Amino acid sequence: MSELHKFIFEGLPVRGAIVRLDGAWREMLARRAANTTTGAYPVPVRELLGEMAAAGVLMQSSIKFNGALVLQIFGDGPLRLAVAEVQSDLSLRATAALTSEVPDGATLPALVNVAGGGRCAITLDPQDKLPGQQPYQGVVPLVDEAGRPLASLSQVLAHYMRQSEQLEATLVLAADDQVAAGLLIQRMPLMGQANLGGSQGESAAHGADEEYNRIATLAASLTREELLTLDVDTVLRRLFWEENLARFVPQQGALGPRFACSCSRERVGRMLESLGREEAESILAEQGQIEVGCEYCGQQYRFDAVDAAQVFAAPSVFQPPTPSGAQ
Ligand SMILES: [Zn+2]
Repeated sequence: MSELHKFIFEGLPVRGAIVRLDGAWREMLARRAANTTTGAYPVPVRELLGEMAAAGVLMQSSIKFNGALVLQIFGDGPLRLAVAEVQSDLSLRATAALTSEVPDGATLPALVNVAGGGRCAITLDPQDKLPGQQPYQGVVPLVDEAGRPLASLSQVLAHYMRQSEQLEATLVLAADDQVAAGLLIQRMPLMGQANLGGSQGESAAHGADEEYNRIATLAASLTREELLTLDVDTVLRRLFWEENLARFVPQQGALGPRFACSCSRERVGRMLESLGREEAESILAEQGQIEVGCEYCGQQYRFDAVDAAQVFAAPSVFQPPTPSGAQ
C-alpha cells in the first residue's frame, strides 16, 4: 500500500518525511504501458518520473496549501516534458512526453539537459482562486551555481528549496518498476533566530547547523537499493536509531498518496457529443472506432459505432457502459 510517514527530531529544528508509492505507482505505469500509441516508458524516463512523483508527495506534504503542487521538467533532450501533480489530499498523477529515442542508461543531463536548456518548475495552483489570482511558480535551471549540470533530481530540488524557500533540505529519491520512494529531511527556520542577536544567537544557530548536518549526512547515506526494498520502519531505524524521533500517524489508504486522474469514459463521451455526430461518424467510417487517449495518465477510451450511437441517441442521459465495454 502506498504510504507517507512524517516525523520530527525532538528538540531539534529538523523534520522529515518518507514516502513509498507502490500500488499508485504501478497503476501509472500500467496505464502508460497499455497505451497502444505510446507504449511503456523507457527505463530512464520511468526512474525520473517515479522520483518526481515521490518528490511531489514529499513537497506537497511539507507545505500548508490547498491546491495542486505541480512538478515539471522541461527538457531539451529526448524527454521534452515530465510532470507530476499532487493534490492537497495526496492524490496524484504523472506523465511524460518524449521526442526521440531514449538511450539505455541515460543520465538526467542526457535526458533533459543536453545543451544546458533544461528547466525544473514547481507550481502551486490554489484550489479556490481569487479573481485574477495567478498560480505561484518557481523555476530553476538544472545546473549548480557554477553552471555544472546537476546529476540527479534530488540535487535539483534541494537547490530549489535552498533558493526559493531558504530551507536547507536533503532528498533521497529512487524508482523502479514496482516502487517509487523518497526521503526528505528539512531544516526548519529557527523561531526568533533574528531576534536573538549577539553571541548567544550565533551559537544557537551554529548548534542547529551541526545538528542538521549530522542528520542530513545520515539521510544521505541511504542507498537507492535500501530505499526501494526496505520497509519504512526499517529505513528509519537503520538511519536514525540514535536520534530521538517523534513519528506522526502514517497516511495511507484513502488518506495516503494514491493515484487519481480526472479522465473517465463518461467525460470522453461528452467530448464526442460536443464534437458532433457528423465528425464522429466520419472518424468511424475511416478508422472503424474512435480512440481517445488521456494525455495525463495514458488511459485509452474506445468507442465503436454502437457506443457512438448511444452517445448521440441519448446525449443528456449518457451513462458509461459496463467495464467490459471500457477495455
Ligand atoms: Zn487520465
